Amino acid sequence: MGENRTELSQLGEFGLIDRINSKFQSKNASTLKGIGDDAAMIDAGDNTLLVSTDILLEGVHFDLAYMPLQHLGYKAVAVNVSDIAAMNGIAEQIVLGLAISNRFSLEAVDAFFEGVQAACKNYNVDLVGGDTASSAAGLVISITVLGRADKKRVVQRSGAHVNDIICVTGDLGAAYLGLQVLAREKQVFLSNPDMQPDLEKYEYLVGRQLKPEARMDIIHELRDKNCLPTSMIDISDGLASELFHLGKNSNLGVKIFEDKVPIDHDTFETAIEFKLDPITCALHGGEDYELLFTISPADYDKIKNHPDIHFIGHMHNDPTQHVLVTKQQTVVPLKAQGWKHF
Ligand code: ADP
Ligand code: MG
Repeated sequence: MGENRTELSQLGEFGLIDRINSKFQSKNASTLKGIGDDAAMIDAGDNTLLVSTDILLEGVHFDLAYMPLQHLGYKAVAVNVSDIAAMNGIAEQIVLGLAISNRFSLEAVDAFFEGVQAACKNYNVDLVGGDTASSAAGLVISITVLGRADKKRVVQRSGAHVNDIICVTGDLGAAYLGLQVLAREKQVFLSNPDMQPDLEKYEYLVGRQLKPEARMDIIHELRDKNCLPTSMIDISDGLASELFHLGKNSNLGVKIFEDKVPIDHDTFETAIEFKLDPITCALHGGEDYELLFTISPADYDKIKNHPDIHFIGHMHNDPTQHVLVTKQQTVVPLKAQGWKHF
């Protein structure tokens, strides 16, 4: 090692991934797409195999003070299935790595796997392997998911065209506010253990944080309506950050309208309570696991009446301009804040 030391914060997560990517070239013809999308694409004849992996670390991604182990098991699977959904694919298998300390009882491990089992059942996925190790520090969960799509129906981040309509499912910002509520209740509890948290009012938000669902329902419905998105990504880091990915990979600009961004009533009210701007929570709050995709305007009629798909803007031809049109009709640049990992 020389004297140079570069802080990882200078690159950020995406800079670091770009750097790793630049050092590797695929050697196998079967590697259709490596680093850079929600899942890798591997040639399997008429099908494309999809592979994606996610790590969940105690103290970084979850806090066992408010994350029941059963929910954690469910969420760990759901977030992986979501990355397969983001390729317009269907998840089929997972392998699960677990590093655990003797701080956990068998009952705790059982609770975790009950959640894994529930998610496997719900998403029709098989747990086919993994690894178990002891952990000196916190709980570590690593899941790799395998999925499949008809090779003509795989959707990447890079396929959007000028004037394609930007669509988002569900509503945004709720998972982030759910986390704020849980963190606040934890602090209240730590300072006064006799206080029982009153989470009823925040049930929806807390549920969005603890029990996210992969939007496989949307994938099936789009197929039934013969609507093939031109590009797609799941919203794990926040809408703005994911819009940047679609823009960058499709070499286009994005334009979205504040009044079209779906925000639930509870999210709105709770943002105000926390002195946060609701649109900021929707743009930059992570972990909603909704789908963000683009469609050709010709496909709009096929899904325009879908109650859970919202049309928030369109792609345009200047890749340097990612903008938000505010409710006051002011055009402001979008910032890709996302989550800062380093
Ligand atoms: P997502 O949010 O959809 O899970 P990420 O932002 O985690 O995607 O990753 C973006 C891309 O970079 C993916 O293709 C992922 O496989 C790849 N990637 C992330 N970390 C690494 C790594 N350490 N080595 C190789 N590829 C990586
Ligand atoms: Mg993703």
